Amino acid sequence: MRLFIAVFALLVAVHCKELFNGDQVLRIHAESEDHIHILKELDEDSGLDFWTHGFSTERPVDVRVPHASLYAVKDFLKENNIPFTVMINNVQDLLDEQKAEMVSNAETERNAKIFDFAAYHDLDTIYSFMDTLVASHPNLISKINIGNSYENRPMYALKFSTGGENRPAIWIDAGIHAREWVTQASAVWIANKMASDYGVDPSVTSLLGQMDVYLMIVTNPDGYSFTHTDNRMWRKTRSVNPGSSCRGTDPNRNWDAGFGGPGASKNPCSDSYHGPYAHSEVEVKNVVDLIKGHGNFKSFISIHSYSQLLMYPYGYTCTNIPDQSELHAVGTAAIKELMSLYNTKYQVGSICKIIYQASGGSIDWTYNIGIKYSFAFELRDTGLYGFLLPANQIIPTAEETWLGLKNIMEYVRDHPY
Ligand SMILES: [Zn+2]
Repeated sequence: MRLFIAVFALLVAVHCKELFNGDQVLRIHAESEDHIHILKELDEDSGLDFWTHGFSTERPVDVRVPHASLYAVKDFLKENNIPFTVMINNVQDLLDEQKAEMVSNAETERNAKIFDFAAYHDLDTIYSFMDTLVASHPNLISKINIGNSYENRPMYALKFSTGGENRPAIWIDAGIHAREWVTQASAVWIANKMASDYGVDPSVTSLLGQMDVYLMIVTNPDGYSFTHTDNRMWRKTRSVNPGSSCRGTDPNRNWDAGFGGPGASKNPCSDSYHGPYAHSEVEVKNVVDLIKGHGNFKSFISIHSYSQLLMYPYGYTCTNIPDQSELHAVGTAAIKELMSLYNTKYQVGSICKIIYQASGGSIDWTYNIGIKYSFAFELRDTGLYGFLLPANQIIPTAEETWLGLKNIMEYVRDHPY
């Protein structure tokens, strides 16, 4: 109980621009069902910021512990004989380094009038990059406003199309979880790569000759903006929860697929809060409406970080999908391509089996409405930096991810259904 009080007091005390001085990220290794039970309770009750979810003896969990609670949490783990290591020694130090790098980078960009793909950018800069890209490829790319966010920011998808009426299409989104910055940054690089490879790379040319690709770089613009202005560790949307002082819903627990089941929280203060009802979050609803209204999507790929995984449905149940063996083979081929560049190790499997049971996820919903090639990536790394991946890893991450994506898209192109 002492532990919970300490954490709660800290949560109440912190407001405005959040600082993480002395916070550590601990990697905790559950070794028994007992440990798992204790960690699950800690997750639900303590308000601690879990960076990875799902508890098993196979895979450690990473959790950020505020400085004021460090002693209590470590003591608690030791008392229960649960092994842990310190993964990040001082979160704020890392944030300060990255902030300084961003500021100096932005200045270089302004002076040289360039866009640096090896840097993290705020929402406005990403949106203006999109305008520049569209302007330089007017016959290939258009910008579609699929609706506005809770805080009324436009949500833009880039549509790559060489013509035709409602061609079979592939959807790719990044950044549905706000703090997973390498995903938005990789999507920026990938947008540029796809644009410049069209007419040059026969594979991309052939793909876009037959199919349309929709790429949404910032799927949670309110959350992303909030990670820049207030709290770098924000994951959810920013919607108000009536009757609670905690804001936001986990937009990847909010889809109408096993909604409200295991692996999602009913507590509005939890980072995996599923929301009041399926598709309650306008950001989710906008994507749902676009996908349904289009009606000809053949593939839906959602990009997250971190853990280096390529996953297919289901998350809400560990029952195999009818296309399990095909999707497993497609995923295996894709990560082989991905790993060929920098030897970054990936694992492939269903969400439920490879990480944990999680309900209300996007790719379960898309699969259930008939979009067979539904996948989710978890990009770099495996926890050394977690969400705070250094900017010098953006381009390598994007490059290898592109190889994996391209491999899946080629397969989808060659296997019409
Ligand atoms: Zn995520």
